[in-house]
Amino acid sequence: MLPTASPSPASPPPPSGSTPQEQLFGPGAAEAYAAAMRDAVDHLVGVLRERTGPATGLPRATAEARVAALDLDRPLDDAREALAELDRVYLRDTVWFDDPGYLAHLNCPVLVPALAAEVFVSAVNSSLDTFDQGVGAAAIERALIAWTAQRAGLGPHADGVFTSGGTQSNLQGLLLAREQARAAGTPVHRLRVLASEQAHFSVQKAARLLGLGEDAVVAVPTDARRRMDPAALATRLEACSTLGLVPMAVVATAGTTDFGAIDPLPEVARLCREHGAWLHVDAAYGGGLLVSPTRRHLLAGVEHADSLTVDYHKTWFQPVSSSALLVRERRHLRHVTWHADYLNPAPEEAGEPELAEQVDKSLQTTRRFDALKLWLTLRSLGPDAVGHMVDDVVDLATEVATALERHPHVELAAEPQLSTIVLRYRPAGLSPARASALTDRIRAEAYASGRTMVAATTVDGERWLKLTLLNPATTADQVLAAVDHLVALGERLTAREAA
Ligand SMILES: *Cc1c(COP(=O)(O)O)cnc(C)c1O
Repeated sequence: MLPTASPSPASPPPPSGSTPQEQLFGPGAAEAYAAAMRDAVDHLVGVLRERTGPATGLPRATAEARVAALDLDRPLDDAREALAELDRVYLRDTVWFDDPGYLAHLNCPVLVPALAAEVFVSAVNSSLDTFDQGVGAAAIERALIAWTAQRAGLGPHADGVFTSGGTQSNLQGLLLAREQARAAGTPVHRLRVLASEQAHFSVQKAARLLGLGEDAVVAVPTDARRRMDPAALATRLEACSTLGLVPMAVVATAGTTDFGAIDPLPEVARLCREHGAWLHVDAAYGGGLLVSPTRRHLLAGVEHADSLTVDYHKTWFQPVSSSALLVRERRHLRHVTWHADYLNPAPEEAGEPELAEQVDKSLQTTRRFDALKLWLTLRSLGPDAVGHMVDDVVDLATEVATALERHPHVELAAEPQLSTIVLRYRPAGLSPARASALTDRIRAEAYASGRTMVAATTVDGERWLKLTLLNPATTADQVLAAVDHLVALGERLTAREAA
């Protein structure tokens, strides 16, 4: 006999929104969905209005303890309570990249059309691996890849794929290079990757993941502006041949993370051609120059890349994740193709298209429709608007650095090349070693104040503060005020030491 279906009179009626139909996105949850989104947006706007700086200076241990104190097996009564709790464990103290006091890492404030796109990305939840998991989505991604490749001048056979970030794009670019070298019969232990000593650490990580060994990445010295020195590259390429090693790829960085230096792409490309090396251009940071109305020429030579990394979530003002790996020759993407019977069976007939599905080109299988964010950005604002913002942040860095040249207590490590400024507190009489020792303490005090967030880096063995300017709405006066704050913190620290 079946148990009786009627609930006992003592049990309360189920709260609304408790059935799967009311909780899972779809027509049955349309009202609940709209209400939840309104609540979330209203809540966020409330937090935005109340916050007073880039962060509150919450110590890491406190942030961790607040989360650790909660019991995930005991849910709260409803979504509103969950939002109130979220304030305490996250929103009230987190970091806001659009605040003028946020000057730390390569994080950008994000464009509103891209945030509207996120609604569709997550609710429709298309997956980019095959056509039938997001009809229309792959076409949009392909159009953006083709458009970016055309901006880069990669030629008629270019293709590519969206990735989770520059790290994955660099890994895939080097994977393709390694497979090309292996196809030519070179054993993996003889392969070398040449990159400037300022290249991003993801190059080393990729070499390790690709089984090339720890010593496979050869650091090429840089010039006074920290760009790859082509003469030094030539020497190292020749040394490889002499030693029986094969330079499978040269990584040219278009916008180094610290100094924004752009390696001399035309010369590097010429050397790659002469030595049969794959040219991978890491434009994770400098990629936004592709849409700059005034600075596109800084990327001259990028059209020679065999593979190219562009991070839309840096200089294109897109929410994380949004990046792409582009290739000059579509067929090279075949190196990551694997045919699964249930998903993307191999073409049966000669003449059927290769790389028909996006999964054929990607290291990922299930993959977010991140391209939609860039799509709605370009369709509503257009590329020039994005490019102007890139120009704005580069202009801002120049303006601030020019003003700081006359600052009696600030030392600049270099002229800015993109939108970073490397500097430190160093009044007359303070030795470089003492200035270096103060750097991380100033940075920590700035964070603790909740007013200013900056990064730090090591330059020639000494510590420097780094400002990364990626907010086109920030003014030079605001950045200069933040620098004055850093100087005041430096003065306070030195005074405390002297006391
Ligand atoms: C940020 C950056 C990367 C890594 O990109 P992610 O998106 O953080 O994975 C690679 N190269 C350069 C030059 C970068 O600035």
